[in-house]
Amino acid sequence: MDAGRELKRIRARLRREGLDGVTAEEWRGSVRLTGAVSEWQRKVDAGWIAAGHGFRGVINDISVPGVSEETLSFPAVGESRNDLEGRAFDVVIVGGGVIGCAAARELSRYDIRIALFEKEEDLAVHATGRNDGMIHPGFAAKPGSKKAHYNVRGNRLYTTVTEELGIPFRRPGSMILIGNPFARLLLPLLAARARKNGVDGYRSLSRKEVARREPSLTKRQYGAFLLPSSGILSPYDLTVAMAENAAANGAEIFLSTGVSGFRMNEDRIAEVVTTRGAVKAGVVINAAGIWADTVAGFADDRFFSLHGRHGVDCILDKGKGKYLSTIYAMPSFSQIHEKTKGGGLVPTIDGNILVGPTAREVPDRENYETELEDIRKLHRHIKLNERLSPADIITYFAGIRACTYDEDFIVEGSRRVGNLVHAAGIQSPGLASAPAIAQDLARITVGILSRNADVKLKESFDPRRKSPPVPSRMSDEERGALIARDTAYGRIICRCEEVSEGEVRDALRSPIPARSIDGVKRRCRAGMGRCHGGFCTPRVVEIMAREMGIDPSEITKKGEGSPLFSGRIGAGREGNHETC
Ligand SMILES: Cc1cc2nc3c(=O)[nH]c(=O)nc-3n(C[C@H](O)[C@H](O)[C@H](O)COP(=O)(O)OP(=O)(O)OC[C@H]3O[C@@H](n4cnc5c(N)ncnc54)[C@H](O)[C@@H]3O)c2cc1C
Repeated sequence: MDAGRELKRIRARLRREGLDGVTAEEWRGSVRLTGAVSEWQRKVDAGWIAAGHGFRGVINDISVPGVSEETLSFPAVGESRNDLEGRAFDVVIVGGGVIGCAAARELSRYDIRIALFEKEEDLAVHATGRNDGMIHPGFAAKPGSKKAHYNVRGNRLYTTVTEELGIPFRRPGSMILIGNPFARLLLPLLAARARKNGVDGYRSLSRKEVARREPSLTKRQYGAFLLPSSGILSPYDLTVAMAENAAANGAEIFLSTGVSGFRMNEDRIAEVVTTRGAVKAGVVINAAGIWADTVAGFADDRFFSLHGRHGVDCILDKGKGKYLSTIYAMPSFSQIHEKTKGGGLVPTIDGNILVGPTAREVPDRENYETELEDIRKLHRHIKLNERLSPADIITYFAGIRACTYDEDFIVEGSRRVGNLVHAAGIQSPGLASAPAIAQDLARITVGILSRNADVKLKESFDPRRKSPPVPSRMSDEERGALIARDTAYGRIICRCEEVSEGEVRDALRSPIPARSIDGVKRRCRAGMGRCHGGFCTPRVVEIMAREMGIDPSEITKKGEGSPLFSGRIGAGREGNHETC
């Protein structure tokens, strides 16, 4: 690559697009943008213009007057602790999303000391807990990209991974619906792309075949492209299960522990500074999601910038689940150059239907507010199914994808810092790719550790996790036998999702126990149904207080700073009544 020539091209394009206030320079092999623009989208446009020219990455330091960008901060954790000061680990993983937890599990195959630090009070709180749970087939990613490579590999690995971890997974397949007779001409192109990416089992379906498969689908379809390897699972179930299995194999998972900096010794990280003291680290894995560029900056290795792409999903009532068996979408072909797959209808592993996600470039990193316009955009997908209507929406949620301007994953050892490994820019399909990314993170990490020591596989490693019982997934006989052994599984706490007291208790006694209402919800679905916890929250609070040995007033929604109760009213003889 001729850097000078490419810079000239970038500058010319910036000028043509009216971005005269932006300067592009080379910086340690990346291209760095500075200057000022009037709107956030213009900053993002400039980043995209600078991408794809052969530089290592795009660092976008353009300012947008009036728009303040979020900076990394750590949730309060009550009394300050210094209990980790001086501890030493062979590997420190920053981030308890699916990537960090998958890496912890992969590395726990080796006889090494592993610590995972997550700043939140639970795992899977950010992008990992805010996605569609779809194990994409690997079709949509650009051929030759890391996304395509990891997605196809990750998709295949899920059959074994979910079986080992004891979490539900199935492959309903996905269909790209053809919306007009001429678009059928594109089917060979779709097949060519699937072939290039190495996707398994794809084929075209006639209009009749599609209608047979999905009787509730609009009649305005002209066939489809079927990708049978597409799967679905619960992303929090998966992530918690991966972390539990890593912990069972010796990894230490530290929640409410933020990484605020590194102490460097020349070109190596000597210590990782956390909110609970500084620890020594042989290798550091940067799996910090949307903050991965900030964490890279702690080691003076910021060769890329991340920008947030906000996405909203609606969840439809479980009662409508029976009207959707395959994942599907009818993309408009004008959308082909957009940087998103466009969303669609996705059955969830728990029987709901998800509609979405949308895609909007935002300066936010952890702000999950939704706008009416986002929800309206989802109605076009709902119209694809004649049995569904916007009245079936029970709630919606938002997530933020962590995107590089090259729109590809970064999975590599740092070129400047000898013991730093990056897993950055893991936007969609990051969930689908996680097991494959984790294998490579482990391989790179073990390679670095092996320069100074002999790294051995652990003989006692057990990939299997004993999952807690879920009565609603059992036959009547199995359920009866379970309740006969332990009556707590017969007392229903959450009526919408049919969650029993035994399951809430298990969530609080699990290897990485829930410590908040949201943590319980993630592990056993209490409060996930149509009433949003209106009925079960007081019961869950009672069980939490009993199991955790604390006063109900100490229970939080999602950790410190999110109290459920604001005071007591009517201190009657039977006890006090708390106000939510
Ligand atoms: C709306 C939406 C829908 C999506 N749908 C799909 C889908 O269907 N299929 C798919 O494959 N992908 C999907 N994705 C993408 C997928 O969710 C992500 O690729 C994946 O979750 C990224 O995981 P992660 O571990 O890299 O990031 P995260 O889940 O964000 O985890 C990073 C963690 O690091 C922690 N952290 C950050 N900085 C620090 C620090 N300094 N100290 C300690 N902890 C720190 C954060 O708190 C966070 O928990 C979707 C994304 C969105 C937003």
